[in-house]
Amino acid sequence: MDICKIDSELIWHPFTQHQIAKAPIAISSGKGSYLFDINGKKYLDLVSSWWVNLHGHAHPEIAKAISLQANQLEHVIFANFTHQPAVLYADMLRSILPKNLNKFFYSDNGSTAVEIALKMSYQYWVNQNHHERKLFICFDGGYHGDTFGAMSVGKASGFHDKFKQLFFQVLQLPYPSTWIDDPDINQKEEQSLAALDNLLSEYGEKIAAIILEPLMQGASGMRFARPDFIEKIILKVRQYDILVIFDEVMTGYGRTGTNFALDQIRIQPDFLCLSKGITGGFLPLALTISTSHIFNQFLSSNYDLSFAHGHSYTANPIACSAAIASFKILTEEKTGLAIKAINQAHCDGIKILQNNNPKISKFRILGTIAAFDLNENIINLNQIKDAFINHGLLIRPLGNVVYLMPPYCTSYDELIDVYKKIANIINTSCKT
Ligand SMILES: *Cc1c(COP(=O)(O)O)cnc(C)c1O
Repeated sequence: MDICKIDSELIWHPFTQHQIAKAPIAISSGKGSYLFDINGKKYLDLVSSWWVNLHGHAHPEIAKAISLQANQLEHVIFANFTHQPAVLYADMLRSILPKNLNKFFYSDNGSTAVEIALKMSYQYWVNQNHHERKLFICFDGGYHGDTFGAMSVGKASGFHDKFKQLFFQVLQLPYPSTWIDDPDINQKEEQSLAALDNLLSEYGEKIAAIILEPLMQGASGMRFARPDFIEKIILKVRQYDILVIFDEVMTGYGRTGTNFALDQIRIQPDFLCLSKGITGGFLPLALTISTSHIFNQFLSSNYDLSFAHGHSYTANPIACSAAIASFKILTEEKTGLAIKAINQAHCDGIKILQNNNPKISKFRILGTIAAFDLNENIINLNQIKDAFINHGLLIRPLGNVVYLMPPYCTSYDELIDVYKKIANIINTSCKT
């Protein structure tokens, strides 16, 4: 079967302009940090397959958990029924989360986890007869998924402009994006906080919730913010009882060097959205985790106040089993050490790139993630992208931002080698 030929006849790929896109690379297997195409060429997966893979491809323990569960119970309706994998996984997660985050609502992808947080936070107010609380605050550059609610609060991400006429109303805040040796960060943060003060004094009582990607925005280009700034934002909105949603779909599960980004922030949110890495990148699963305080506003003696929302595959037992296996690996000591080694490789690796090269700037590192900007005026981005792939490096720049987000099984030496290759590719590239 000529996969690429039939693919070009039948398949409509995500985020792809089919008129100009090259034929996709057909992958036949994966092992550890590597993917292998049908011709046997290997690629180091430096994007963790769209940020979902944590412990490596085809990890035997996760594969085994999936197989066992599939032979035991593949799926069951989750309204009025329950099962061990869903309960056990929530119980495990609770052990590494702040105590107040103790109500677990399952779904199956990041966008949906966000929709649920938005709907719950809105209904939280409606259930208390506060129908006027229908605004949301979000940050410029925030990305929360591709469904309508998630797009509305991701309005300023630049991804969804075609649909903006259909969005509900959101209030935007400037995002004080920062990097190593950023001279203007205090000023940027002050501007953002002042903008928030203005919004709050005008709309404070009409706002249901604020949503943000804590510590770093992913899709809009690995844009970092400082923990102190996030704390100041939360303190200000809490004065108006505005609910706080942390979208940790990308930052969760060790990516930022701690289990969750919230572990680096001293104030806790009302909602936490998780997806992407939680099954180790094997199966779609998501959680919207909230507090007893939120949950209690949905209780009454009749159905009226209930959260009337659910998906066919909510809490799929096979996905939950994968998540349990992935959780066990995440919490092993060796995974913590691997995460530290990756961070060290980033710190040492960017030194290879830094040497005042006018082609690169704005270096930033957080946990297992490193990013920098390419100067588009003197670099041909397409040429660079092709060169990465030709060298067997699966790197997918976001605009002019190059980032590395490897699976945790990637070694220090492998990463240093990647940095040397990148330096070489960038040094030899020129604007054509
Ligand atoms: C990827 C992502 C989403 C959307 O998740 P999907 O599973 O792709 O729907 C939401 N929020 C953040 C921060 C993300 O990175």
